[in-house]
Amino acid sequence: MIQHGPRGPKRIALTFDADLTVAMRERLRAGTVRSYYNDALVEQLRTLRVPATLFLTGLWMEQYPDHTKELAKDSLFELGTHSYDHRGFTKHCYTLGTLPRAAMLDDVRRAVVLLDRLDPRATRWFRFPGGCYDGTALHELAPAGLTAVGLDVPGADGFAKSPQAVVKQVLGNARDGSIVVLHLHGGDNAPYTDEAIGPIVRGLRARGFELVTVTELMAP
Ligand SMILES: [Zn+2]
Repeated sequence: MIQHGPRGPKRIALTFDADLTVAMRERLRAGTVRSYYNDALVEQLRTLRVPATLFLTGLWMEQYPDHTKELAKDSLFELGTHSYDHRGFTKHCYTLGTLPRAAMLDDVRRAVVLLDRLDPRATRWFRFPGGCYDGTALHELAPAGLTAVGLDVPGADGFAKSPQAVVKQVLGNARDGSIVVLHLHGGDNAPYTDEAIGPIVRGLRARGFELVTVTELMAP
């Protein structure tokens, strides 16, 4: 489990989670939400040449296999997993529900198998849904051989009320070695991430931070 990189070098890893729960998939199918792929955000990351680590849920990869392959091919990005269907790994994890202990290992393995099929460069980075974990979850997942990537700066872009709030949150809290969590799915769940990312990237770079992937951040 890592929460941030070395303090000292002025480097920061921006990470983006692609959630897809069964309830979100229902909203897609009902047409209430057009897409849970924020292509405007990815476009900005490419234009600004921002390396990033993306954590994908299994349901998201099943919904967007072509996008997953495109992201995998892009050398700016590295991909890790974010569970199969984004259920919580602890009893009380927001409104995510709870994955039974006996199902934890199979759940993450299912996501890893999906990612390996779509991404020949797949990493073994993993992020817990909602950032929720405890000793039991870590114990259950040990055989999967993953490294859980936590965070020290929540971007708070989930259900944000404005892009400015997200920019302020990230620029106000990021420091050397930070791992920042934002979201890739957009839609009703993270509506302003694409508008916030430009000011965030420019703001961090103006302060002399180099933006890197988690692998680069943790490299000796
Ligand atoms: Zn998530």
